[in-house]
Amino acid sequence: MRVLLLFAPAYLNQLYGEPPLGVSYLAQILKNSGDIVKCINLNNYFSLADTSNDILHQTRAMIEEFNPEILGINSWTYALPFSLELITTLRVHKKKYPIILSGNNAYFMPDETTKLVGNQAIVCTKKGYDEIANTYFGKNIALLKPTDLPLLDFSYFDDRRGRFYLLNKFGCAKRCSFCSEGMYWRTEHAFDVFHTLKQIQLLQSLYHIRDINFWDDHITMDWKYGKKFCEEILAQKITISWLTYSRIDQITEEKIILMKKAGCSHIFIGVESLNPKTLLYFNKTIEPDQYINQTQKVVRLLEKYKIQGIFSFILGSPVETSAEMLQEYQKIISLQCNNPGIRIELSQLTPEIDSLLWKMYQLGKTNLWKIQHQNLLDRFAGTQLFSEKYDEPWLVPQKYLFASQVMNQKEFELTLSQIWELNEHENHEIISI
Ligand code: SF4
Repeated sequence: MRVLLLFAPAYLNQLYGEPPLGVSYLAQILKNSGDIVKCINLNNYFSLADTSNDILHQTRAMIEEFNPEILGINSWTYALPFSLELITTLRVHKKKYPIILSGNNAYFMPDETTKLVGNQAIVCTKKGYDEIANTYFGKNIALLKPTDLPLLDFSYFDDRRGRFYLLNKFGCAKRCSFCSEGMYWRTEHAFDVFHTLKQIQLLQSLYHIRDINFWDDHITMDWKYGKKFCEEILAQKITISWLTYSRIDQITEEKIILMKKAGCSHIFIGVESLNPKTLLYFNKTIEPDQYINQTQKVVRLLEKYKIQGIFSFILGSPVETSAEMLQEYQKIISLQCNNPGIRIELSQLTPEIDSLLWKMYQLGKTNLWKIQHQNLLDRFAGTQLFSEKYDEPWLVPQKYLFASQVMNQKEFELTLSQIWELNEHENHEIISI
């Protein structure tokens, strides 16, 4: 069977160029059982200079060239408007193969997604997962556990593979209110350490890689696992430099020393805020003062051991006044100015499907505002392909803000916009996402 798996493009700014893991595992399983599989990560093909319609038509040409018997489209929320447009175009051009649409929205919002797609594609819902796997791929893929997954050779991706990322662990036992990770996976799951090491060695032998990104949900959280991982890298003399994720309150000097020895070069940390009230609202910690002190300590620790820290913050919490929002921004800037070795990422609070905040919105316990301020809209929703055609928060979450509890919409948006303008004007070494 000829299977084409597409990873829909979201931002076209060189982010997300790595082969996505869900698509890769499906492709590897199919390849291992004799199917002819090709995967395309469309993020690698286009740039912001391309028009949405060009991207659509070129994608259709790629599909026709491969001539699949089944087309799978993996679409996370930010790419869903593109996927919907692509599916419609393919239908207009009378495609003959079944299209399976999977991803967050299909999984968490099955009825809404099915309504939008109609009978143009099969929506891979939570309930329908097993049946689709059996009917279309003839395998019980849905039942696979992390320990049953094969090693990936990524041969089904074309030469635009970019870098690679892997997972040691996924899922989270915490419940930060803006994040769906803990809600989706419920708790932490881990690959076998030796499986991950074999995977790294396979990639080194095939592609001579020197570095890898682990998009783990916090390797420092279950330190028994993290420690074993680092010790085995050292014991097996694997030379690799790696990026990983951690919570701020899980970092200690002992862990940093071992991680550094084992090749850790970058740690991404979602600090989210330096305001105690906001940290409580985000459910990030129940000890905000201690957490904020720890942030300062971790900055110094990472500088001491020469690990690049990437500190991420969410601007504009619904419980902050305008003055507090500006103050928060100034604190972040000071952190950057006093510690030029670190990198800062800024974002704003988006309604992430299946997060606790999203559930509160669904229960009518919190409101969403559709952004009115053009600069904010351009900054956050403008880069998403076909976002202008769709308006729902579950389709284009960047067009929405959680309603402030202390300001009206105009004041809140003005403050947020003022902060972003300040940031652009002052030209800090800050990445905005
Ligand atoms: S933000 Fe990090 S710690 Fe919080 S729930 Fe998500 S993955 Fe867990």
